[in-house]
Amino acid sequence: MTVFPLLAEPDRYRPMMIDLVDDAVARDYWLDVFANHLPSLADHCIESDSGADAAERAELVRERFSAMIAALRSDPRAYDERVGPISILGICRLREQVMREQGFADPYQPIKQRENEAALQLLPALLDELDGLDDRPRLEVVVTGIAAGNLFDLGAAGSYEKYRQGGFDFHATRDKAARPWRVDDVDALIDRLLNRPPTRAMLLVDNAGADLVLGMLPLARELLARGAQVILAANTTPSLNDIIIDELGEVLGLARQLDPYLDQACDEGALACVASGNDVPLIDFRQISEEMASASAGVDLLVVEGMGRALESNYDARFTCDTLKIGMIKEGWVAQIFDAELYDVICRFEPKT
Ligand code: MG
Repeated sequence: MTVFPLLAEPDRYRPMMIDLVDDAVARDYWLDVFANHLPSLADHCIESDSGADAAERAELVRERFSAMIAALRSDPRAYDERVGPISILGICRLREQVMREQGFADPYQPIKQRENEAALQLLPALLDELDGLDDRPRLEVVVTGIAAGNLFDLGAAGSYEKYRQGGFDFHATRDKAARPWRVDDVDALIDRLLNRPPTRAMLLVDNAGADLVLGMLPLARELLARGAQVILAANTTPSLNDIIIDELGEVLGLARQLDPYLDQACDEGALACVASGNDVPLIDFRQISEEMASASAGVDLLVVEGMGRALESNYDARFTCDTLKIGMIKEGWVAQIFDAELYDVICRFEPKT
């Protein structure tokens, strides 16, 4: 693992927006968030595992992770040696470790697969819709689609409950994601894409399903059409419903069969995938794969997508190339930080520093 070469001032970089070390109120709040999420996690463990003892092992996950949360409540430094000073990222990592210890390698695999298949069915009509629009309105719809797709997040209580009750309706979500957003640099982003298209873009993708297929792939396609090389960077190992590198390859293999542009871009090597080395829904840019570091050479547009990667971590991070940070807010504390409402969108475009 290595430091991301595009990080400006890596010595001053701090990945986390939310300080759980010194802020006891934040710490209690987030430990509650993790505790409240645990029942749904156990359900997904059972769903993903056909073993006869899956329910018992899922119960062990629940017990052991509950015990960790309790330990952190009484001693925030309880797991410093294991995952560093207490942070949302570190607690996510503990959660993954507990599941793996009980044999649950990828509890959200069935749901990711279902959502990937459902989103791929919608992709051709979406691309037709986009291709019928002029440049500026099309790019606006593409960016709004990224925000809408990002609602498919099974780590946040609000979006999980929405999903449980009615599934995920990409078009309805997109219609509701009306601008202006809480932070809305969409016009500046579109100006950049139209007037000075990037030559090489790296897109850090977040969730499976609509998030990737109907949000980020159409952006990749836009960039490709303007002559950019595009690298999609995905987590290496499973974490909630985040897409991982192996699934990304599979989804791209199916998507290219649906769209000649994507197909050609894959053939020509203009569109490629890279494993980020990451293992959680947030990202620490001091710990990324050598492969992603190498692939970042020459990148002049970085897209960091998702509430975890772009808002809970890295919102203050500065990079040496133009950067888009975009995500939908699905968590009360995050909404409060941005003085926003739940399901508002943050779209921050920053010229390089
Ligand atoms: Mg995610």
